[in-house]
Amino acid sequence: MNVSDTEIVNSILMEDGMQPVNEPNQAEVIFINTCSIRENAEERVWNRLKEFKALKKEKEGDLTVGVLGCMAERIRDKIMEKEKLVDLVVGPDAYRDLPKLLADVDDGRKAVNVLLSLEETYADVKPVRTNDNGVSAFVTIMRGCDNMCAFCVVPFTRGRERSRPAESILDELERLSDQGYREVTLLGQNVNSYNDGEHSFADLMYKASQVDPEMRVRFSSPHPKDFPEELLKIISEQPNLCNYIHIPAQSGNDEVLERMRRPYTRQQYLDLVDRMREIIPGVTLSTDIITGFCGETEEEHEDTLSLMARVKYDLAYMFAYSERGRTLAQRKYEDDVPEKVKKRRLSEIIEQQMNIQEELNKKEIGRRHLVLVEGPSKRSDEQLCGRTDTNKMVVFDREDYAKGEYVEVVITDCTSATLMGDPIKKSSIAEFEAEKITA
Ligand code: SAH
Ligand code: SF4
Repeated sequence: MNVSDTEIVNSILMEDGMQPVNEPNQAEVIFINTCSIRENAEERVWNRLKEFKALKKEKEGDLTVGVLGCMAERIRDKIMEKEKLVDLVVGPDAYRDLPKLLADVDDGRKAVNVLLSLEETYADVKPVRTNDNGVSAFVTIMRGCDNMCAFCVVPFTRGRERSRPAESILDELERLSDQGYREVTLLGQNVNSYNDGEHSFADLMYKASQVDPEMRVRFSSPHPKDFPEELLKIISEQPNLCNYIHIPAQSGNDEVLERMRRPYTRQQYLDLVDRMREIIPGVTLSTDIITGFCGETEEEHEDTLSLMARVKYDLAYMFAYSERGRTLAQRKYEDDVPEKVKKRRLSEIIEQQMNIQEELNKKEIGRRHLVLVEGPSKRSDEQLCGRTDTNKMVVFDREDYAKGEYVEVVITDCTSATLMGDPIKKSSIAEFEAEKITA
């Protein structure tokens, strides 16, 4: 979300005549786009701000520093008064105000706008993507969240849920396709609750699939509560809608889920997983897990381990619970699981998950996949990397293949995080599908 928001900010600033530079010491203005989801995200921001304060001193004050995003909402007073680290604080719904706020700073005033909006979706702002690979792009389709999970600060920092009109999303997809992008990820805190008054998320996904049959469509993050059969069928029927779904579980225990205000039980969640695998054969799944939430017992933690062992996720984002101000958990519950226990439980689920991933990846050996090439691999320019439809990273020899191409690859080896393969030939979604059917 923050990468995508930065692209919106780029656009607003460049319309106003500003230009991006490569090095902080060349800049007249530096914005830091922040996250409040966990304590350590915020700590990193404080450290960066101290670096910029030093830079400002070096430049004898000739530098404006601004904080954007979720932290702006939360701690504007601390940011502005106590620390005197920044000149400008702008929340996630106020980016259109940036040119005016910068002018205020030039006039010697501190500038703040952290108002949240019920409508703002930046639908008409054309994001400027200065930092991506030219192959895959993020497209924000909704903002805010109404779910109020007990642990989560997002509803407070990003405000109420609202959907961007489908027409403006589809226009953006057209434009991306014309510019040569081969993959888009539709973004929101709660994408499958999307509703612009006319279109459901299933409608939007179908329309998105029709923009360019050779452009892959992914989405993140959905909520387990909103997975109608229709949506799963559309994903399974349209070849360019990727067979990979992120379904955050958070915990495998009913009491913890209830305390978290997640509106499903372990059994309902498992039923959803079964339905997904039935309707979309070969679908891969990932999840988010929190360990050490308020009151979590050893047995409850074991239930998370057993849920993860049962589902066998292809990927998991795992976190130790971090108490956030204003959330229900902070107001009503005690953050009573000692840090050491949280960390130990976290390493237990990570270790189990790494073993599962390796086991699943080993099963990939010998299979053929259509890989969208994203660029050179991290290790070597002689190798390329890209993802399968199922979102697995594959590394293979460059030969004559190039970024942005679809390449058919046979998997030959793996680690818990990456597949290695041999390229067979250049291909396309249509060609690969046709071959799958005849095979
Ligand atoms: N809207 C997304 C989640 C966005 S936050 C969704 O509902 O899936 C991404 C993940 O961060 C969450 O799924 C959760 O696992 C984790 N998270 C959120 N608040 C947290 C907290 N206070 N401590 C630790 N992890 C947290
Ligand atoms: Fe946070 Fe829950 Fe909303 Fe996700 S659905 S952003 S976890 S409140």
